[in-house]
Amino acid sequence: MDMNTIEAVVPTTDPADWREGDAWLAGGTMLFSYGSAVLKRLLDLGSAGWPAIKVGPEGIELAATATIAELYALPDQPVVREYAVKEYGWPGLDLVRPCCDSFVASFKVWNMSTVGGNLCTSLPAGPMISLCAGLDGTATILGPGGSSRTVPVAEFVVGDGRNVLAPGELLRSIHLPASALASKAAFRRLSLSNLGRSGVLLIGRLGGPNAGEKALVLTITAATRRPVQLRFTAGDLPDASQLAAAIDDAVPEALYHDDIHGLPEWRRDMTYRLAEEIRAELLDPPNEGGAEAAVSGDFWPPQRPARKEA
Ligand SMILES: Cc1cc2nc3c(=O)[nH]c(=O)nc-3n(C[C@H](O)[C@H](O)[C@H](O)COP(=O)(O)OP(=O)(O)OC[C@H]3O[C@@H](n4cnc5c(N)ncnc54)[C@H](O)[C@@H]3O)c2cc1C
Repeated sequence: MDMNTIEAVVPTTDPADWREGDAWLAGGTMLFSYGSAVLKRLLDLGSAGWPAIKVGPEGIELAATATIAELYALPDQPVVREYAVKEYGWPGLDLVRPCCDSFVASFKVWNMSTVGGNLCTSLPAGPMISLCAGLDGTATILGPGGSSRTVPVAEFVVGDGRNVLAPGELLRSIHLPASALASKAAFRRLSLSNLGRSGVLLIGRLGGPNAGEKALVLTITAATRRPVQLRFTAGDLPDASQLAAAIDDAVPEALYHDDIHGLPEWRRDMTYRLAEEIRAELLDPPNEGGAEAAVSGDFWPPQRPARKEA
């Protein structure tokens, strides 16, 4: 799309350069497809030169400019296979590919769009939001006055297309902590059509900062306008009815998203269903050897309920 109000494209990563009418430009897949009639300058992050992904004992550091293609390649990197999988044992890494696959992604979106651009677009169906919130990611945000602050990714998005960034603030990176990567993970996603945008995406994790600890974290995304996280301590793990009651408390009706990709009633019903599947998979596996795969990209296109006549 032509953006004929644009007067300049400025290569910079310095929030001090930002002024009214500017937008940060990452992969451009949202900016150039939705367009704008008001933007005057694009502050181009393309020459940032930030290392896309850093892996260490503390966890994984994703630059905001890391592309979906780079992230998808992560589990195959020799350093990751050698250290992250063999030495640290990070089953949480198994979430990376199902989340990347949850994009309705053309070649362009896959290769150009960025982790940071996805968080900052802040759509309910943002799969990088699901991944980073599900793994207890922390976002580092740079401000125009040289300031820096951190925000849990689960709190970064506050509504459909809305986030905590103040004008001019730049999302720099996302830290995924080793403690979350070390926990056992379960993934469920539903869409109304086989290659459709996510209508419900839930991630469960079982584990804790201390070895052997069994805390349960459930992150609800796509069904809701913003991520919702439920946490249960090792001594307080829920049965099916307790989990349903916790969802009742945490997700008011108005928080279920409503758009062409799913009615709120369907998203709500599927949230309860998938949450219970995750709870059962993580807490009541049939037996240790024969349990279902911990991560499954389970598409189950149900009949779309008829919309009520106005
Ligand atoms: C065919 C198609 C399919 C798509 N499918 C999906 C989908 O399934 N789910 C989904 O969520 N989205 C989808 N999108 C929307 C969009 O492509 C993605 O959200 C993408 O991840 C945006 O990343 P980007 O790097 O291209 O962002 P850009 O287009 O470069 O930027 C998006 C917004 O974020 C801001 N921004 C970018 N980076 C930063 C930063 N580091 N700090 C502060 N602000 C920043 C920009 O100023 C802009 O407002 C789709 C788009 C297309 C065209």
